[in-house]
Amino acid sequence: MNNSPIRSNYLQVLEQIAQAALSARRPADHVKLVVVTKGHPVEAVQEAVEAGVSIFGENYAEEGSEKVITLREKPGLEWHMIGHIQSRKARLVSEYFDWVHSLDSLKLASRLNHFAVESGRVMPVLLECNVSGEESKFGWAAWQEHRWESLLEEFAQVAALPGLKVSGLMTMAPYLQDVEQARPYFRRLRCLRDYLAQQLPGVNWQELSMGISADFVVAVQEGATMVRIGTAILGARPHLR
Ligand SMILES: *Cc1c(COP(=O)(O)O)cnc(C)c1O
Repeated sequence: MNNSPIRSNYLQVLEQIAQAALSARRPADHVKLVVVTKGHPVEAVQEAVEAGVSIFGENYAEEGSEKVITLREKPGLEWHMIGHIQSRKARLVSEYFDWVHSLDSLKLASRLNHFAVESGRVMPVLLECNVSGEESKFGWAAWQEHRWESLLEEFAQVAALPGLKVSGLMTMAPYLQDVEQARPYFRRLRCLRDYLAQQLPGVNWQELSMGISADFVVAVQEGATMVRIGTAILGARPHLR
């Protein structure tokens, strides 16, 4: 392993989250840090565990589940799926992950629900929303406020599935030179959340998973309750498989 200063990076990011929360008059303990380990070997995850990290994010079902299995002995780790899930990987995800941030269709919801019910558990999920309109992004189309109403029926159907516990929303902002330009997208996700809380009040819309290494300070200022950070803590990713 290289000498990547995972521990000091981790502490520095925690401090930056606290500062960003303070600047927005939010309590820092309302922001959960998900450390994204995709593309990094299990040794890096182990080093992060030793540094005090307990919440990890992975993008690929196989890579993630291998790490879950390898680190089974470590108590108290939480694994969050944050990448697009192909239908045929739904079983793997439901078996090995504690959270799904990247729920992006009713079809995937019903697959995940099926496996969750089968194994007698309830999977907390976030609905991924595309608030930028970029075609490369997954998620429900949510960049036009006047179309938000058209989301309600599917979201209500997802929320009614007994094996899933809808807990909020997730998004990726566009990659922009100036992070300030990401602010309107985070704000839009927060407004969507407030709209859903009004329209579908029986559902828990509390969590907002938004913000990565490049833009998490702005995301926290705009109300993120979960940030997903890889590079700023683990360094550049070695090659993805
Ligand atoms: C890779 C990834 C991240 C982390 O990105 P960094 O720039 O390494 O912080 C966060 N969210 C998603 C969905 C990702 O795919």
